[in-house]
This record gives sequence, C-alpha cells and structure tokens, in this order.
Amino acid sequence: MKELVTPLLAWYNLNKREMPWRDTRDPYLIWISEIMLQQTQVETVRPYFDRFIKQFPDVSSLATANQQQVLKSWEGLGYYSRARNLQKAAKLLVDEIAGELPTNFTDLLNIPGIGPYTAAAIASIAFSEPVPVVDGNVFRVFARINELEDDISRPQTRTLVFNSLKEIIPTENPGDFNQAIMELGALVCRPKQPKCDECPVAGFCSGFRKGTFSGFPVKKKMKERPHKEIAVGLCFFEGKVLIARRHENQMLAGLWEFPGGKLEVGETLPECVIREFKEEVGLDVIVTDKIAAVNHAFTHFTITVHAYICKHISGEALPLSGSEVKWVFPEELSQFPFPKANLVIIKSFLDHIK
Ligand code: SF4
Repeated sequence: MKELVTPLLAWYNLNKREMPWRDTRDPYLIWISEIMLQQTQVETVRPYFDRFIKQFPDVSSLATANQQQVLKSWEGLGYYSRARNLQKAAKLLVDEIAGELPTNFTDLLNIPGIGPYTAAAIASIAFSEPVPVVDGNVFRVFARINELEDDISRPQTRTLVFNSLKEIIPTENPGDFNQAIMELGALVCRPKQPKCDECPVAGFCSGFRKGTFSGFPVKKKMKERPHKEIAVGLCFFEGKVLIARRHENQMLAGLWEFPGGKLEVGETLPECVIREFKEEVGLDVIVTDKIAAVNHAFTHFTITVHAYICKHISGEALPLSGSEVKWVFPEELSQFPFPKANLVIIKSFLDHIK
C-alpha cells in the first residue's frame, strides 16, 4: 500500500475542505473538534465548535466553567457524556499536569474520554507522531482497497488495520496522511456510490479493479433497535412551567427536561404523564392539549416523545427522581441545557402559549 501515499497526499492538498480546526496544530482545538466529530457530521459541528471555542478557549477555561454552561454550549449536539467527559478531563489536566495535553499517543490514552482514535488524531496532527487513525471512513477505504473480508466490528480487525497503516504512515506530516484518508472516505470513497473515477488511489484498489467494492467493508448486521414511547408534561402554573434536572447517574445526566417517562403496558399517554408527575415530582396534574410528538434516535434505541400541556391540581414539586426541580418563566427555558428532542417541544410550547 505504500505507493498510494504520494497520490493520496497530493489529492488531499488540492481537495481538502476548509474547517476551522483543520489548519491548526493546537492540541486543545484538535481534541475538542475530534470529540465533537464523533458520530456527528462536519457541517453540524462547525457552529458548535466556533461557539464552544469562543466560550472555552483553552483547557483551564473549560476546567473552571460551570457544568451547566458547558452543557448549554453543547445543547443539540447530542451524546452529552462527551461534554461532561471533556470537562472532567480538562479538570484532571489542570490538577495533575499544569493544564497541558500529553504530547504522545500512549500518554494521551490515559486521559478520560480519549480513545485510540482521538489520541492518534491529536498525536499525529499536533505532535507529528506517525500513528494512524482508524475510524469508519478509514475502515471503508482500507477494506475496499484490500478487499478485506474481516468483520470491521471486531476489535481484532481494528488492530489489523491499525498495524497495516502504521507500516505506511509517513513520518513527515503524519497528520496530513490521517486527514487525507479520512477525507477520501468522506468525499470520494463514500458509503454509497463511491466516485472511483475521481479517486487518486483507484490504481491500487482491488475492490475497484474487480468491481467488488460495494461488498466492503464487511460488517455484521446490527440488531434492530428497540423503540420506546415517552410521554412528558409541561405543567404551566401561575405563568411558569416546571422543569426537572436529570440525576448525575442517569443517562443525559445534568440536563433539564419536562417530567415524564416511558409508557407502561395498558396505559394511555395522558395516564402515563399523570403517573410520572406523581412519581417523579410528587404533583397531581390533569392533562389537556397535546402539543408535539418528536422522534429521536439514540445509539441503542429510538424514542417518540409525546408532549402534553398539564394543569396543576395539588402538591408541591419535589425532585423525587432527578436532582432538582424549578418553576421557570417560558422565556427562561433557553437558559437551561435540554436534550435535543426537547428543543422542538419547547418551540411548540412557546407557540402554544403565545
Ligand atoms: Fe474507494 Fe473506488 Fe477509490 Fe477504491 S477506487 S478507494 S472503492 S473510491
């Protein structure tokens, strides 16, 4: 594979996309961008990256920030544990190594939230260490070029690809090589309809030569994700609406939401809201209008969130299952970090009470 390095780098230099994190060797900026880019498209990340870096320009500003500010800045990007882990890691860097990121692959792996992919990206781009990145794009390009029959969801396959690329990654500008192969996967060797006629490495690609590329990479079929129906209530009382903060040990920890939960067997959605209000915040409510139904996909399951307006009947709001409850004015909702599905609900709510 060594012979593909030169044409790949030449193609990259001519075709790479402008990205705010691309022409920097600042390890902090590369770290933030790589964490944001996990499971998220470049175009989605751009505005978040700019805003986050403006608010938290370095490790120490992130370490000392209020967690709610960090989550608010991340709001809508999803996978919120990434933001919490970033801040945890920033605190550790400040406490233990003077706020600097380690300068090599092995030591970077000791930082919470930094796995082999992110460590390789930071080490190669910021510190010119010749260590390859292996992500979905790299797997696809490598598997097609080599007609790799191994299942890419197996850890052994990752090791095989990593070791093979380690043999060919150049010692000069290894970061460019890593970015080039990822960019090739994103722009040319796309999952569907790869543009082989524009590909700088087509001459070295077995999958192209034999017309087998669409069978690669090989990946065992994922099980269908289970689906959950969720019902939540927006209890509007004396001009304010009730919100609850998720517990630190729950999924989406630290974020705010409207009380509610999973529909149980034999229950209607309004009955679910009434039960959840009693269990989660100790309030008796009646349910009136439905204002939204929002679909959302997590890694292992999908949900539909049904949102209802509720009227308070009795009781005092208490954080029985979360860490905090608050009555807030509708215009204050934008100050609190909510999971993505809730942003549509908030908009419907604001339209509803206009
Ligand atoms: Fe991918 Fe086609 Fe290039 Fe092979 S020739 S690496 S299949 S785009």
